[in-house]
Amino acid sequence: MPPVVSLTNFSAGPSALPAEVLEKARAEMLDYAGTGVSVMEMSHRSRAFEGILLDAESRLRRLLDLDEDWAVLFLQGGASLQFTMLAMAFLEGRAAYALSGAWGVKALAAARLVGEVEAVWTDEARGFRAEPYFTPGIASGYDYLHLTTNETIGGVQMSGDPPADLGAPAIVDASSDLLSRPLDPARYAMIYAGAQKNLGPAGLTLVLIRRDLMARCRTPHPMLDYRAQGKAGSLYNTPPCWSVYVTGLTLAWLEDLGGLPEIARRNATKAALIYGALEGAGSFYRLHADPGSRSTMNAIFRLPTSELEAEFLAEAEEGGMRELKGHRDVGGVRASMYNAVPVEGCAALADLLTDFAWRKG
Ligand SMILES: *Cc1c(COP(=O)(O)O)cnc(C)c1O
Repeated sequence: MPPVVSLTNFSAGPSALPAEVLEKARAEMLDYAGTGVSVMEMSHRSRAFEGILLDAESRLRRLLDLDEDWAVLFLQGGASLQFTMLAMAFLEGRAAYALSGAWGVKALAAARLVGEVEAVWTDEARGFRAEPYFTPGIASGYDYLHLTTNETIGGVQMSGDPPADLGAPAIVDASSDLLSRPLDPARYAMIYAGAQKNLGPAGLTLVLIRRDLMARCRTPHPMLDYRAQGKAGSLYNTPPCWSVYVTGLTLAWLEDLGGLPEIARRNATKAALIYGALEGAGSFYRLHADPGSRSTMNAIFRLPTSELEAEFLAEAEEGGMRELKGHRDVGGVRASMYNAVPVEGCAALADLLTDFAWRKG
Protein backbone atom coordinates (compact mmCIF):
# COMPACT_ATOMS: atom_id res chain seq x y z
CA MET A 1 0.00 0.00 0.00
CA PRO A 2 1.28 3.51 -0.76
CA PRO A 3 2.01 5.61 2.33
CA VAL A 4 -0.84 7.78 3.52
CA VAL A 5 -0.08 11.45 2.91
CA SER A 6 -2.33 14.09 4.34
CA LEU A 7 -3.46 16.50 1.65
CA THR A 8 -3.25 20.27 1.73
CA ASN A 9 -5.30 22.22 -0.78
CA PHE A 10 -3.47 25.41 -1.84
CA SER A 11 -6.04 26.27 -4.54
CA ALA A 12 -6.49 29.96 -5.35
CA GLY A 13 -10.26 29.56 -5.66
CA PRO A 14 -12.61 27.88 -5.24
CA SER A 15 -10.43 26.88 -2.37
CA ALA A 16 -10.09 24.93 0.86
CA LEU A 17 -12.95 24.89 3.36
CA PRO A 18 -12.42 23.97 7.02
CA ALA A 19 -12.75 20.19 7.53
CA GLU A 20 -15.18 20.85 10.41
CA VAL A 21 -17.44 22.82 8.07
CA LEU A 22 -17.50 20.04 5.47
CA GLU A 23 -18.22 17.45 8.21
CA LYS A 24 -21.12 19.51 9.53
CA ALA A 25 -22.53 20.01 6.02
CA ARG A 26 -22.29 16.25 5.49
CA ALA A 27 -24.02 15.48 8.78
CA GLU A 28 -26.90 17.83 7.91
CA MET A 29 -26.97 17.01 4.20
CA LEU A 30 -30.12 14.89 4.13
CA ASP A 31 -31.99 16.38 7.07
CA TYR A 32 -31.36 19.97 8.04
CA ALA A 33 -32.23 20.61 11.70
CA GLY A 34 -35.07 18.11 11.81
CA THR A 35 -36.86 19.53 8.76
CA GLY A 36 -36.56 16.18 6.98
CA VAL A 37 -35.13 17.85 3.87
CA SER A 38 -31.78 19.10 2.64
CA VAL A 39 -30.99 22.82 2.46
CA MET A 40 -30.63 22.15 -1.28
CA GLU A 41 -34.30 21.26 -1.64
CA MET A 42 -36.10 23.67 0.68
CA SER A 43 -37.90 26.86 -0.27
CA HIS A 44 -35.86 30.01 0.07
CA ARG A 45 -38.97 31.49 1.69
CA SER A 46 -39.21 28.76 4.33
CA ARG A 47 -38.72 29.50 8.02
CA ALA A 48 -35.68 27.24 8.08
CA PHE A 49 -33.92 29.08 5.29
CA GLU A 50 -34.91 32.45 6.68
CA GLY A 51 -33.13 31.35 9.86
CA ILE A 52 -30.02 30.36 7.89
CA LEU A 53 -29.91 33.74 6.15
CA LEU A 54 -30.41 35.75 9.35
CA ASP A 55 -27.84 33.67 11.21
CA ALA A 56 -25.22 34.26 8.51
CA GLU A 57 -25.98 37.98 8.50
CA SER A 58 -25.73 38.37 12.27
CA ARG A 59 -22.46 36.43 12.39
CA LEU A 60 -21.01 38.70 9.71
CA ARG A 61 -22.14 41.78 11.60
CA ARG A 62 -20.50 40.49 14.80
CA LEU A 63 -17.25 39.43 13.13
CA LEU A 64 -16.80 42.73 11.28
CA ASP A 65 -18.50 45.00 13.80
CA LEU A 66 -21.05 46.30 11.28
CA ASP A 67 -23.87 48.38 12.77
CA GLU A 68 -27.27 49.18 11.26
CA ASP A 69 -25.73 51.85 9.02
CA TRP A 70 -24.62 48.88 6.93
CA ALA A 71 -26.72 46.60 4.75
CA VAL A 72 -25.56 43.02 4.22
CA LEU A 73 -26.54 41.59 0.82
CA PHE A 74 -26.22 38.01 -0.39
CA LEU A 75 -26.11 38.27 -4.19
CA GLN A 76 -24.92 36.30 -7.21
CA GLY A 77 -22.87 37.00 -10.32
CA GLY A 78 -19.47 36.94 -8.63
CA ALA A 79 -17.14 39.82 -7.94
CA SER A 80 -17.05 40.27 -11.72
CA LEU A 81 -20.70 41.36 -11.87
CA GLN A 82 -20.00 43.85 -9.08
CA PHE A 83 -17.42 45.52 -11.37
CA THR A 84 -20.34 46.53 -13.62
CA MET A 85 -23.12 46.78 -11.04
CA LEU A 86 -21.31 49.25 -8.78
CA ALA A 87 -20.44 51.47 -11.73
CA MET A 88 -24.05 51.44 -12.98
CA ALA A 89 -25.18 52.35 -9.50
CA PHE A 90 -22.70 55.05 -8.48
CA LEU A 91 -20.80 56.36 -11.50
CA GLU A 92 -22.38 59.66 -12.52
CA GLY A 93 -19.45 62.01 -13.16
CA ARG A 94 -16.15 60.18 -12.99
CA ALA A 95 -14.74 57.41 -10.83
CA ALA A 96 -11.22 56.81 -9.51
CA TYR A 97 -9.42 53.45 -9.54
CA ALA A 98 -6.23 52.39 -7.80
CA LEU A 99 -4.59 49.56 -9.74
CA SER A 100 -2.37 47.08 -7.94
CA GLY A 101 -3.08 44.11 -10.18
CA ALA A 102 -5.13 42.28 -12.77
CA TRP A 103 -8.46 42.35 -10.93
CA GLY A 104 -8.38 46.12 -10.48
CA VAL A 105 -7.64 46.46 -14.20
CA LYS A 106 -10.73 44.34 -14.97
CA ALA A 107 -12.88 46.38 -12.60
CA LEU A 108 -11.78 49.59 -14.32
CA ALA A 109 -12.38 48.15 -17.80
CA ALA A 110 -15.93 47.12 -16.83
CA ALA A 111 -16.68 50.57 -15.39
CA ARG A 112 -15.30 52.28 -18.49
CA LEU A 113 -18.27 50.86 -20.42
CA VAL A 114 -20.54 52.74 -18.02
CA GLY A 115 -18.84 56.13 -17.68
CA GLU A 116 -15.68 58.13 -17.17
CA VAL A 117 -12.96 56.39 -15.15
CA GLU A 118 -9.41 57.26 -14.24
CA ALA A 119 -6.52 55.35 -12.68
CA VAL A 120 -5.42 57.76 -9.94
CA TRP A 121 -2.72 55.31 -8.84
CA THR A 122 -1.18 52.43 -10.75
CA ASP A 123 1.83 50.17 -10.52
CA GLU A 124 1.33 48.78 -14.02
CA ALA A 125 4.73 49.99 -15.29
CA ARG A 126 6.45 47.77 -12.72
CA GLY A 127 4.22 44.79 -13.44
CA PHE A 128 2.06 45.31 -10.33
CA ARG A 129 4.36 44.60 -7.41
CA ALA A 130 3.35 47.23 -4.85
CA GLU A 131 0.28 48.08 -2.83
CA PRO A 132 -1.35 51.45 -3.58
CA TYR A 133 -0.10 54.61 -1.94
CA PHE A 134 -2.69 57.29 -1.18
CA THR A 135 -1.90 60.99 -1.03
CA PRO A 136 -4.48 62.94 1.02
CA GLY A 137 -7.59 63.73 -1.03
CA ILE A 138 -6.41 61.51 -3.91
CA ALA A 139 -10.00 60.92 -5.04
CA SER A 140 -11.51 64.36 -4.37
CA GLY A 141 -14.05 65.21 -7.06
CA TYR A 142 -14.64 61.56 -7.99
CA ASP A 143 -17.82 59.58 -7.24
CA TYR A 144 -15.83 56.85 -5.51
CA LEU A 145 -12.39 55.30 -5.25
CA HIS A 146 -12.22 51.63 -6.18
CA LEU A 147 -9.52 49.44 -4.57
CA THR A 148 -8.58 45.78 -4.54
CA THR A 149 -7.44 44.83 -1.04
CA ASN A 150 -5.69 41.67 -2.18
CA GLU A 151 -4.63 41.06 -5.78
CA THR A 152 -4.97 37.30 -6.00
CA ILE A 153 -2.95 36.82 -9.20
CA GLY A 154 0.06 38.99 -8.34
CA GLY A 155 0.02 38.29 -4.59
CA VAL A 156 -0.05 41.99 -3.69
CA GLN A 157 -2.03 42.96 -0.61
CA MET A 158 -2.77 46.28 1.06
CA SER A 159 -1.02 46.16 4.41
CA GLY A 160 -4.03 47.69 6.16
CA ASP A 161 -7.16 49.79 5.75
CA PRO A 162 -7.08 52.74 3.34
CA PRO A 163 -6.66 56.14 5.04
CA ALA A 164 -9.69 58.18 6.07
CA ASP A 165 -8.85 61.20 3.89
CA LEU A 166 -9.26 59.75 0.40
CA GLY A 167 -11.73 62.46 -0.63
CA ALA A 168 -14.34 59.96 -1.92
CA PRO A 169 -16.10 56.82 -0.63
CA ALA A 170 -13.90 53.72 -0.79
CA ILE A 171 -15.45 50.79 -2.64
CA VAL A 172 -13.30 47.69 -2.33
CA ASP A 173 -13.05 44.29 -3.95
CA ALA A 174 -12.02 42.13 -0.98
CA SER A 175 -12.74 38.81 -2.73
CA SER A 176 -9.57 37.11 -1.61
CA ASP A 177 -8.92 38.52 1.86
CA LEU A 178 -12.25 39.44 3.46
CA LEU A 179 -12.40 37.94 6.98
CA SER A 180 -8.71 37.02 6.93
CA ARG A 181 -7.90 39.86 9.36
CA PRO A 182 -9.70 42.64 11.24
CA LEU A 183 -10.71 45.79 9.39
CA ASP A 184 -12.10 49.19 10.38
CA PRO A 185 -15.54 49.55 8.73
CA ALA A 186 -15.35 53.34 9.10
CA ARG A 187 -12.78 53.45 6.28
CA TYR A 188 -15.11 51.88 3.72
CA ALA A 189 -18.41 52.65 1.97
CA MET A 190 -18.80 49.26 0.28
CA ILE A 191 -16.93 45.96 0.56
CA TYR A 192 -17.67 43.07 -1.78
CA ALA A 193 -16.34 39.56 -2.24
CA GLY A 194 -17.06 36.37 -4.11
CA ALA A 195 -17.45 33.69 -1.45
CA GLN A 196 -15.27 31.06 -3.07
CA LYS A 197 -11.84 32.29 -1.87
CA ASN A 198 -12.18 32.52 1.89
CA LEU A 199 -15.81 32.15 2.89
CA GLY A 200 -17.65 29.28 1.27
CA PRO A 201 -18.62 27.60 -1.98
CA ALA A 202 -18.90 29.47 -5.29
CA GLY A 203 -22.20 31.08 -6.24
CA LEU A 204 -22.52 33.66 -3.48
CA THR A 205 -21.33 37.25 -3.72
CA LEU A 206 -21.27 39.12 -0.46
CA VAL A 207 -21.92 42.86 -0.59
CA LEU A 208 -21.54 44.96 2.54
CA ILE A 209 -22.75 48.45 1.80
CA ARG A 210 -23.38 51.61 3.79
CA ARG A 211 -27.02 52.61 3.59
CA ASP A 212 -26.17 56.23 2.67
CA LEU A 213 -24.20 55.01 -0.36
CA MET A 214 -26.93 52.48 -1.19
CA ALA A 215 -29.50 55.33 -1.28
CA ARG A 216 -27.47 57.00 -4.06
CA CYS A 217 -27.99 54.01 -6.36
CA ARG A 218 -29.70 55.14 -9.57
CA THR A 219 -30.17 51.86 -11.44
CA PRO A 220 -33.75 51.23 -12.60
CA HIS A 221 -33.06 47.51 -13.20
CA PRO A 222 -34.20 45.66 -10.07
CA MET A 223 -31.61 42.86 -10.12
CA LEU A 224 -28.83 45.46 -10.41
CA ASP A 225 -30.33 47.81 -7.83
CA TYR A 226 -28.73 47.60 -4.39
CA ARG A 227 -31.81 49.33 -2.92
CA ALA A 228 -34.18 46.70 -4.31
CA GLN A 229 -31.93 43.88 -3.15
CA GLY A 230 -31.64 45.41 0.31
CA LYS A 231 -35.37 46.07 0.59
CA ALA A 232 -36.08 42.44 -0.28
CA GLY A 233 -33.59 41.20 2.33
CA SER A 234 -31.53 39.40 -0.35
CA LEU A 235 -34.70 37.54 -1.38
CA TYR A 236 -35.65 39.56 -4.46
CA ASN A 237 -35.19 36.32 -6.33
CA THR A 238 -33.84 32.92 -5.31
CA PRO A 239 -30.49 33.35 -3.56
CA PRO A 240 -27.71 30.72 -3.78
CA CYS A 241 -29.20 28.86 -0.80
CA TRP A 242 -26.59 26.12 -0.38
CA SER A 243 -23.72 28.55 -0.68
CA VAL A 244 -25.27 30.88 1.91
CA TYR A 245 -25.73 27.91 4.25
CA VAL A 246 -22.13 26.65 3.98
CA THR A 247 -20.81 30.21 4.30
CA GLY A 248 -22.85 30.48 7.53
CA LEU A 249 -21.10 27.33 8.80
CA THR A 250 -17.72 28.88 7.97
CA LEU A 251 -18.67 32.05 9.84
CA ALA A 252 -19.62 29.96 12.88
CA TRP A 253 -16.26 28.16 12.61
CA LEU A 254 -14.49 31.53 12.54
CA GLU A 255 -16.36 32.80 15.59
CA ASP A 256 -15.65 29.60 17.56
CA LEU A 257 -11.98 29.95 16.68
CA GLY A 258 -11.76 33.40 18.24
CA GLY A 259 -12.81 35.64 15.36
CA LEU A 260 -10.67 37.85 13.16
CA PRO A 261 -7.79 38.58 15.58
CA GLU A 262 -7.15 34.84 15.94
CA ILE A 263 -7.45 33.99 12.24
CA ALA A 264 -5.15 36.95 11.45
CA ARG A 265 -2.59 35.54 13.88
CA ARG A 266 -2.76 32.12 12.19
CA ASN A 267 -2.58 33.64 8.71
CA ALA A 268 0.49 35.68 9.71
CA THR A 269 2.14 32.52 11.03
CA LYS A 270 1.48 30.65 7.78
CA ALA A 271 2.74 33.52 5.61
CA ALA A 272 5.88 33.86 7.77
CA LEU A 273 6.64 30.15 7.30
CA ILE A 274 6.32 30.30 3.52
CA TYR A 275 7.99 33.66 2.86
CA GLY A 276 10.67 32.74 5.39
CA ALA A 277 11.52 29.59 3.42
CA LEU A 278 11.43 31.48 0.10
CA GLU A 279 13.74 34.23 1.33
CA GLY A 280 15.94 31.83 3.26
CA ALA A 281 16.93 30.11 0.00
CA GLY A 282 18.99 33.07 -1.22
CA SER A 283 18.10 34.00 -4.79
CA PHE A 284 16.79 30.56 -5.77
CA TYR A 285 13.15 31.68 -5.63
CA ARG A 286 12.07 34.96 -7.21
CA LEU A 287 9.13 36.52 -5.42
CA HIS A 288 6.78 38.66 -7.48
CA ALA A 289 5.57 41.22 -4.91
CA ASP A 290 7.66 43.86 -3.14
CA PRO A 291 8.56 42.89 0.45
CA GLY A 292 6.17 45.37 2.14
CA SER A 293 3.23 44.43 -0.09
CA ARG A 294 3.37 40.63 0.00
CA SER A 295 0.02 38.96 0.44
CA THR A 296 -0.71 36.77 3.45
CA MET A 297 -3.21 34.99 1.20
CA ASN A 298 -1.32 34.22 -2.05
CA ALA A 299 2.45 33.82 -2.40
CA ILE A 300 3.54 34.08 -6.06
CA PHE A 301 7.07 33.07 -7.07
CA ARG A 302 9.23 31.65 -9.83
CA LEU A 303 12.02 29.09 -9.80
CA PRO A 304 15.20 29.49 -11.92
CA THR A 305 13.78 27.53 -14.89
CA SER A 306 10.42 26.15 -16.01
CA GLU A 307 11.91 22.63 -15.80
CA LEU A 308 12.66 23.18 -12.10
CA GLU A 309 9.15 24.57 -11.62
CA ALA A 310 7.65 21.42 -13.11
CA GLU A 311 9.91 19.26 -10.93
CA PHE A 312 8.97 21.23 -7.85
CA LEU A 313 5.24 20.97 -8.57
CA ALA A 314 5.58 17.21 -9.10
CA GLU A 315 7.39 16.76 -5.77
CA ALA A 316 4.79 18.89 -4.01
CA GLU A 317 2.00 16.81 -5.52
CA GLU A 318 3.69 13.65 -4.34
CA GLY A 319 3.89 15.11 -0.84
CA GLY A 320 0.15 15.85 -0.82
CA MET A 321 0.48 19.56 -1.59
CA ARG A 322 -2.13 20.29 -4.23
CA GLU A 323 -3.06 23.09 -6.63
CA LEU A 324 0.22 25.01 -6.49
CA LYS A 325 0.51 25.74 -10.21
CA GLY A 326 0.61 29.47 -10.92
CA HIS A 327 -2.15 31.42 -12.68
CA ARG A 328 -2.22 30.78 -16.44
CA ASP A 329 -1.30 34.40 -17.23
CA VAL A 330 1.67 34.46 -14.85
CA GLY A 331 3.09 30.94 -14.61
CA GLY A 332 5.39 29.88 -11.80
CA VAL A 333 4.01 28.80 -8.45
CA ARG A 334 1.13 30.21 -6.44
CA ALA A 335 0.55 29.07 -2.87
CA SER A 336 -2.81 30.26 -1.55
CA MET A 337 -2.98 30.23 2.23
CA TYR A 338 -6.59 31.15 2.88
CA ASN A 339 -8.22 30.85 6.30
CA ALA A 340 -8.99 27.13 6.00
CA VAL A 341 -5.45 26.09 4.99
CA PRO A 342 -3.89 24.61 8.13
CA VAL A 343 -0.59 25.83 9.61
CA GLU A 344 0.81 22.27 9.33
CA GLY A 345 0.25 22.24 5.55
CA CYS A 346 2.15 25.52 5.23
CA ALA A 347 4.95 24.19 7.43
CA ALA A 348 5.24 21.14 5.14
CA LEU A 349 5.40 23.39 2.07
CA ALA A 350 8.05 25.56 3.76
CA ASP A 351 10.14 22.43 4.46
CA LEU A 352 9.87 21.33 0.84
CA LEU A 353 10.85 24.82 -0.39
CA THR A 354 13.97 24.81 1.78
CA ASP A 355 14.90 21.23 0.93
CA PHE A 356 14.31 21.63 -2.82
CA ALA A 357 16.48 24.76 -3.02
CA TRP A 358 19.22 22.99 -1.06
CA ARG A 359 19.21 20.05 -3.47
CA LYS A 360 18.85 21.96 -6.74
CA GLY A 361 20.38 25.37 -5.99
C1 LIG B 1 -11.41 35.70 -7.83
C2 LIG B 1 -11.45 37.18 -7.83
C3 LIG B 1 -12.38 37.90 -8.61
C4 LIG B 1 -13.35 37.22 -9.55
O1 LIG B 1 -14.35 36.63 -8.83
P1 LIG B 1 -15.61 35.95 -9.55
O2 LIG B 1 -16.46 35.61 -8.37
O3 LIG B 1 -15.10 34.76 -10.30
O4 LIG B 1 -16.23 36.95 -10.44
C5 LIG B 1 -12.38 39.27 -8.53
N1 LIG B 1 -11.52 39.92 -7.71
C6 LIG B 1 -10.62 39.28 -6.95
C7 LIG B 1 -9.70 40.06 -6.09
C8 LIG B 1 -10.56 37.88 -7.00
O5 LIG B 1 -9.66 37.23 -6.23
